[in-house]
Amino acid sequence: MSYAGGAQGISTVGPGADFRHDYEYLATYGERSDRALCRLLDFRRQHTESDRREMTAGVEDHLDTLASRLFGSPYYRRILHRRGLSPRDLVSMKDLEGFPMLDRTTLGKMWRQLPVVDEESPSYQDAVLVRSSGSTGSPIQVIRDGYDLVHMWTMVRFWAQITGVELPKSPMVVLLCDLPSGLEYQSRLPTLGDGTLVRISTRQPEPRRRLLEADVDVLFSDPAGLHWLLSEEEVPRPRLVLSSAQYLSAQMRRELEDRVRAPVINYYASSETGPIAWECLQSLGKFHVLVPDMWVESVKEELVVTRLRPSIVPLLRYRMGDGGQVAFDACRCGYRGWTIRDFDGRRMCRFLRPDGQLVDAWKLARLFKHRALDGFRLTQLREECFRLELVGSGEDGETSMGGELARLLRRLGWPDPQIELEYVDELEVRGTKPEPFRTCITSPSDVDEQT
Ligand SMILES: [Zn+2]
Repeated sequence: MSYAGGAQGISTVGPGADFRHDYEYLATYGERSDRALCRLLDFRRQHTESDRREMTAGVEDHLDTLASRLFGSPYYRRILHRRGLSPRDLVSMKDLEGFPMLDRTTLGKMWRQLPVVDEESPSYQDAVLVRSSGSTGSPIQVIRDGYDLVHMWTMVRFWAQITGVELPKSPMVVLLCDLPSGLEYQSRLPTLGDGTLVRISTRQPEPRRRLLEADVDVLFSDPAGLHWLLSEEEVPRPRLVLSSAQYLSAQMRRELEDRVRAPVINYYASSETGPIAWECLQSLGKFHVLVPDMWVESVKEELVVTRLRPSIVPLLRYRMGDGGQVAFDACRCGYRGWTIRDFDGRRMCRFLRPDGQLVDAWKLARLFKHRALDGFRLTQLREECFRLELVGSGEDGETSMGGELARLLRRLGWPDPQIELEYVDELEVRGTKPEPFRTCITSPSDVDEQT
């Protein structure tokens, strides 16, 4: 098997990133990965009783580390000093309320001043600059330290443990990607039993054959990639599937679990924060927070995240732009801790087909993968009538977009779709999040699948 792109140590780098082309140095983070995994698992073990106060105290034990990081960050030193605050004031979770929030625009502007400058630390020396995916707006620069680069593989071990999945000594991880760039590569995963990471693009020849031949243990993708997978006659049999970035409907999850016969972890993460929570496998729609690594508040119904796990960039009360409520929870799945409900991030939208069936609008997302989510909007006006708004002048060779969209809609069950294509300077955003799919049709049967 050969893959274009060559070896590289990291899997989530955006275009133009400054990354290293070797990966052996990541092996030095093996012990730290073990410790991080223990911290998450121990926290679960220690708190089998649902004692909110005791658990809060357990989380507060990790505030010290965050406070010392805040001292090391030029941005936070300045901002806190200006407000008459000291990181030492951060003693309880309640104290967070008095601390300033950070929004995405400020993070985008201040990325040079946010990191903790610690030239002696290997993790600092291994830091890289990556560009966020832009799935929640325009891409921004994000700095990740050496450990941040391997943290996702710690999470794979964590989710495997809690779902009872046994991973082989050297797992094969496939990142199934539906992006038009067609980027593919292969790399080692020194902190995951020296496993292998292969990125397979659906845009390159014979993706299905290569996916089946890869003998995948852990499959990463997003709902757009998973839609592609489910349209194939034959699917691989991974031990664990991970999905993120977009809304994963309950219907799609069921279909997927049915066909791949593996647990599906739908996790909530962002390029800026890393993984935050995962959707309960028994109570869909509830997202369990990854305490004690992450702390989530709901401020005026917006999710605000504090990263307690040490990283080069201390993130204090980072505004996610996603809606949701956070409450203490003793879930029937066994989770004790904080749970996000009424999550309103990757907005669900379903389009009504002329035959009365409802179709998950995100099935169309693959058409727009080269655009940020605030760069387009598709609205169902009437049964066969859609308005497609694209930000731009239409001079970038995208005039075929209407035709491609009509073809995809026909495949999905609209016999004669009409598309009104409109170019706009910008799209207004409702709340803080783009809303790329909308419908003007209210269907009486349109009940939320997740309730
Ligand atoms: Zn649960």
